[in-house]
Amino acid sequence: MQERRIYLDHHSTTPLDPRVLEAMMPYLTERFGNAASRTHAFGWEAEEGVEKARAQVAALIGANAKDIVWTSGATESDNLAIKGALHFYRDKGRHIVTMATEHKAVLDSCKALGRDGLADVTALKPRSDGILDVAAAQAAITDATVMVSVMHANNEIGVVQPIAELGALCRAKGVLLHTDAAQSAGKIAIDVEAMHVDLLSLSAHKMYGPKGVGALYVRSKSPRVRLTAQIDGGGHERGLRSGTLNVAGIVGMGAACAIAKAEMAEEATRLLALRERLRARLFGGLDQLRVNGDLERRLPGSLNVSFACVEGESLMMGLRELAVSSGSACSSATLEPSYVLRAIGVGEELAHSSIRFGIGRFNTEDEIDYAAGRVIAEVRRLRALSPFYKPATKIPAAEAPR
Ligand SMILES: *Cc1c(COP(=O)(O)O)cnc(C)c1O
Repeated sequence: MQERRIYLDHHSTTPLDPRVLEAMMPYLTERFGNAASRTHAFGWEAEEGVEKARAQVAALIGANAKDIVWTSGATESDNLAIKGALHFYRDKGRHIVTMATEHKAVLDSCKALGRDGLADVTALKPRSDGILDVAAAQAAITDATVMVSVMHANNEIGVVQPIAELGALCRAKGVLLHTDAAQSAGKIAIDVEAMHVDLLSLSAHKMYGPKGVGALYVRSKSPRVRLTAQIDGGGHERGLRSGTLNVAGIVGMGAACAIAKAEMAEEATRLLALRERLRARLFGGLDQLRVNGDLERRLPGSLNVSFACVEGESLMMGLRELAVSSGSACSSATLEPSYVLRAIGVGEELAHSSIRFGIGRFNTEDEIDYAAGRVIAEVRRLRALSPFYKPATKIPAAEAPR
């Protein structure tokens, strides 16, 4: 018999919703046309699928369909937004304000620009709850600032940043606001108008769509945002991103957005209940835990917990039937503690013994109960072997359980 497997890693990727696959199937088979072929029906029907999807993606974020540019995913969208703007506006300035807890697609795009002498980067530290201090962002903006890039929801700790507040600030200062919404889109409400967002990155596979497709929202009026293309070729996507469109993937992304828009409110309530059930069980069964990141301003299905006095690698080894992520990032040969956890003040040891739980659309109460039971049993087993663990010892105030 196969061992039970439970998927609780929805920050990494999500399964394809069967309804999305169904929408994609015709475009993987008989509707194989190139959406750029203007001379025959094969091209027209492909283009029709692409344009319907463009409207579906736009509707999820309150945008105009013509402001959606297809990409291969949020990594490419982040690269295009940041490099494209800093290239285009290089005569205005070269300063960019971002956060230390951004995804690597943002941080490394900034770093690459810095290396080429095209950007000066200010990476703000979050507060200890993971949230941006908007006053610090305001203080960081100078006359040379072209862009502020702050993610909507964090992929490791799930915290939701005050994008609307930041957007109002950026608009008043005449600075572009880019936000990476790969984690938040389809999970919590987004409105690019109300939030004053100028550029917004999306990824289909984080919202039950296929991998390898995404989009960048590029505001076309008040203000009109200009970008220098990073991929040149046939001039597709208003010249911003050349390359034959991934029609089936795009149709899937559109379907995923339409489902998310229709079901988001109900799903959020259900996922929040599952997450709180998991949290209650863990804190009921164990002491010396810490939730990383603010508990209120957080994605409904997201929970990141540090377990004191257990060795991170042993914990993951003991929980192999649970698909979760640890607070360690494999960089080359070494196991580095997560830079996000380190940035909010989690110690190196505790960062390694942290687990990110990402609850999603198809998880059940029974799976949550089983997962909680397994984690509790494994942490207890490892602590019984640990020379450091003393039941009910006080842990430092900064790391006290909440
Ligand atoms: C997953 C993710 C990305 C990368 O998206 P891809 O579509 O896999 O390239 C970027 N930013 C955030 C916040 C993510 O969660």
